[in-house]
Amino acid sequence: MNINRLFRRSRIRLAFWYVLVMGTILSLSGFVVYRSIVQSNWVALEREIESIAGTLHDSLEPMLPVTGDPAIVLQQIFPDLCLVGKACTVNPTLIQRHTIGISDRSIYYIRLFDHHGKLLTFSANQPPYLPNTLTSPDWQTINTSNGMRYRQFTTILHSAGGHNLEGHNHDSWGYLQIGRTLASLDAETRRIQWILAIGFPVALGLVVVSSWWLSGLAMQPIYQSYQQQQQFTANAAHELRSPLASLLATVEALLRVREPDPSHLQTMLPTIERQGRRLSHLIKDLLLLASLEQNETPVPFLPCCLNDLVVDLTEEFLELAVAADIQLTSKVPSVMIYVLGNESQLYRMVSNLIANAIQYTPAGGSVTVRLEPRDRKAVIAVKDTGIGIPTDQQGRIFDRFYRVDGDRSRKTGGTGLGLAIAHAIALKHQARIKIESQVEQGSLFTVELETVVS
Ligand code: ADP
Repeated sequence: MNINRLFRRSRIRLAFWYVLVMGTILSLSGFVVYRSIVQSNWVALEREIESIAGTLHDSLEPMLPVTGDPAIVLQQIFPDLCLVGKACTVNPTLIQRHTIGISDRSIYYIRLFDHHGKLLTFSANQPPYLPNTLTSPDWQTINTSNGMRYRQFTTILHSAGGHNLEGHNHDSWGYLQIGRTLASLDAETRRIQWILAIGFPVALGLVVVSSWWLSGLAMQPIYQSYQQQQQFTANAAHELRSPLASLLATVEALLRVREPDPSHLQTMLPTIERQGRRLSHLIKDLLLLASLEQNETPVPFLPCCLNDLVVDLTEEFLELAVAADIQLTSKVPSVMIYVLGNESQLYRMVSNLIANAIQYTPAGGSVTVRLEPRDRKAVIAVKDTGIGIPTDQQGRIFDRFYRVDGDRSRKTGGTGLGLAIAHAIALKHQARIKIESQVEQGSLFTVELETVVS
């Protein structure tokens, strides 16, 4: 399958899941916020009704008639309320006077019942078709045919003068019912619903856009790493092909000659051997790099003496340096420096740096390997007076198969993997290789390693 299509499909799938998860979270939070606003408005409204009922109850209590026809007495107390069975004119009611300053007065209504639950008096603005007997529980929501909603509260009325009405003892004088229209609450709820209805698709649209962008960001490192992998495969194939082609060509040339001249053989066999070695070297390096990066069977880190490492490697490379007419020296401190690590890997890392220093230093130059303690770290510095590395290429020399001067490096037997291996080993030891270099002046590679605290 086309790789770009594969990445695009993965990006779409990722964006889809982002949208699904974020959309679900968004809708759930929107719903919770909506419910809590509606609920708190509802609770506030009921508290307000209750508080008005309490105020009214306390005001009415001392005025309620103990005996006699309550309708006549009530008319004296509540001239603004309508009496059941009498003509009613719409005037500001008692409830309106009592609720001045508490709330919008026109939205409340009041109803008074006797202790049998029979309606005595009521506000003219009460909802239509309310029953004249008390049947309702404490709280009731009334829906009228014209789509209006009311919330009403019923409380027992006690009279201050006693409970002896009509010659009987009663628990209460009667009942006070207070209600209000839910128009403003419903309008507020509708307003929130509208905000959510418009806001949710807008937010969802933003979620879609940001999900697409985020999935792109998430795919980027995967895409880059895939491209690097592809580049690496192509480079590895190229590097393997050249010595293999040369080797095959030499062997074919030999096979074509029926009776090869022994002197011919003497010149061709070393070529075959060199190319074979090169191939084997390359494959070994590739395998080492792969094992370093895959972190397979991690070898436990042990204390390694860096003084021995530097001295051993300098001795090892001395012959090569002399052959190249390069002065190789090492400077190690008298105090022993130990680090925790994999000894053979540390040897490999430093030997790659020394080999490069010798390789890229012209005859007559010098290479110095220095070991020194710095704070709680050990610093290994490999300095040469060689050809140096241009500043713009210094960031890339740790890439696999990267060479500053490809032909020159290949001729000297370099695989282009030496610094990549050194870098991978340094990473495994939580170290970093730093480079300072100037063209034609020389290079300085330093590795800082954490020392063992004794
Ligand atoms: P190679 O096997 O080609 O030496 P390396 O990975 O070891 O590959 O190095 C990468 C490239 O970095 C080399 O091809 C060379 O151009 C450059 N390089 C490394 N070390 C030095 C150095 N000490 N002086 C100059 N150039 C260097």
